[in-house]
Amino acid sequence: MKKICMVRLALAGLIVSAAGVAALVNALSPAPKAPAFEATHVRGGYTLVLDPGHGGADGGAVSVSGAYESGINLEIALRARQIAGFFGVDPVMTRESEELNYPDDAVTIRAKKVWDTKRRAELANSLEDAFFISIHQNKFTSAKPSGSQVFFADTPGSADAAQILQSKLLAVAPGNRQNATKIPDTVYIMNHISCPAVLIECGFVSNIPEAKKLEDPSYQTKLAAVIVGGYLESVS
Ligand SMILES: [Zn+2]
Repeated sequence: MKKICMVRLALAGLIVSAAGVAALVNALSPAPKAPAFEATHVRGGYTLVLDPGHGGADGGAVSVSGAYESGINLEIALRARQIAGFFGVDPVMTRESEELNYPDDAVTIRAKKVWDTKRRAELANSLEDAFFISIHQNKFTSAKPSGSQVFFADTPGSADAAQILQSKLLAVAPGNRQNATKIPDTVYIMNHISCPAVLIECGFVSNIPEAKKLEDPSYQTKLAAVIVGGYLESVS
């Protein structure tokens, strides 16, 4: 318990301290590396699975500046992996680069996407006590909407974790009025995994000022710190 309290305190300091974030940015740039010390997958009985959405043949949404969502998702997830390492957690990643090794029979983009989505769900389901966090960026037809939003799966623990993460995200965007919401039935992966699962739409790449922030490494680090903080609080 004491250890967990110390972790919480340390992480709270990490999130609110600009100097701490700046130090992290320096530590993380340019390419996040694995923590030097021995880490463990398991904390609070869970194995953290970080899922940077899209990748490979699927770039996801395209931002107003032309950046692919898949790259932003990966940057945030890699930063979250490193920050998690500072707290003794070594997440399982559903992908670690923009390249994916598709099977030969996955020829069309649709077939590649189907294979990849099922692969990710199977990975999460193959782990005992997985805790799944999917990282995405939102897009809308108008430039107006902004703010991060956390969606939760219909599995035990998901809604509570989403509420915690949604409130923690106020640390990076205090004016955000989005609410944690149940994931729509149409999102395959979130409806085919059995563990606690949240999908974080970190912001809107269709909103010019927000897209600029989402593409900024220091903002990506702040988001990553919040995601890890929300995870640690959810499982402690
Ligand atoms: Zn997405």
